[in-house]
Amino acid sequence: MAPMLNGRTHWSVLVLCVLLAGGAGFFFYQTTQLKSSLVTTAQEADDTESHLTQRLAEAVETIQKRDGQLSELENELEETKEDLRDAERTIEEFEEEYRTTINAVKDLNKLSQIDEELLQQYSRVYFLNENYIPERLTQIDEKWVDATKSDEYFLAQAWPFLEDLLEDAERDDIDLRVLSAYRSFDEQAQLKGQYLQTYGEGANTFSADQGYSEHQLGTAVDFTIPALAGQLAGFGDTEAYQWLLDNAYKHGFILSYPKDNAFYVYEPWHWRFVGEDLARDLNRDGRNFYEVPQRELNEYRLELFD
Ligand SMILES: [Zn+2]
Repeated sequence: MAPMLNGRTHWSVLVLCVLLAGGAGFFFYQTTQLKSSLVTTAQEADDTESHLTQRLAEAVETIQKRDGQLSELENELEETKEDLRDAERTIEEFEEEYRTTINAVKDLNKLSQIDEELLQQYSRVYFLNENYIPERLTQIDEKWVDATKSDEYFLAQAWPFLEDLLEDAERDDIDLRVLSAYRSFDEQAQLKGQYLQTYGEGANTFSADQGYSEHQLGTAVDFTIPALAGQLAGFGDTEAYQWLLDNAYKHGFILSYPKDNAFYVYEPWHWRFVGEDLARDLNRDGRNFYEVPQRELNEYRLELFD
């Protein structure tokens, strides 16, 4: 039995050995495959890493480039903003210049419509042309005209100022009346003739020579009060005259020939419209219209009817 058993055992050992050898071979093969797969994977991982590192480097470079571009853009934006501010300043300056020019043109236009004679000083050297006629006259409401007179006229543009003055006086219970306002050259000549007949050469001291008269402008007025019954004399002693000294300037009127003036005989009744600004300044500084240089007076022409 033993050798038979022995023979079977040998086959069994042989088969076992073959199986073991096959198993070991398979195991070795598997291990080798695994190893080689691991190596491949590790290599791939390495490749991936280096690829990623490269990508990262590229990304960093791109970001840096973008940063550079961004700061360039920011600089450009800053410069553009500065240019814009410059342009805005230029526009503002231009607008300012434009406004100044427009105002200058407006002033010139306005000035061209205000008769320069209205602030002119008259004397024996410079006098009003005998053909001069005011631009437009308006008839003075007869309620303000002295009973001894009928139609009296005043420069239309200046009339509202005279009306305000008369109403102001009335409110203060002053019975102010217009004795004489606009006089044409012919009327003035006639009046002078009457004065000469009555007073002889002495008339030169109280009646302006023909054509010299401010009355021909339409902006001068001789005031009186009813109690004087059409006479000029005595007006300087009235309450009405005192009222005019205190208030006429507020309405743009000045006394052309005050007491002790160096130019003409004292005429307390004779008032001339020169505009509120000039009348106010003359009153404030205690100056007489005929003492002020003509150039200085002309500067008030623009605001004459303001
Ligand atoms: Zn007069």
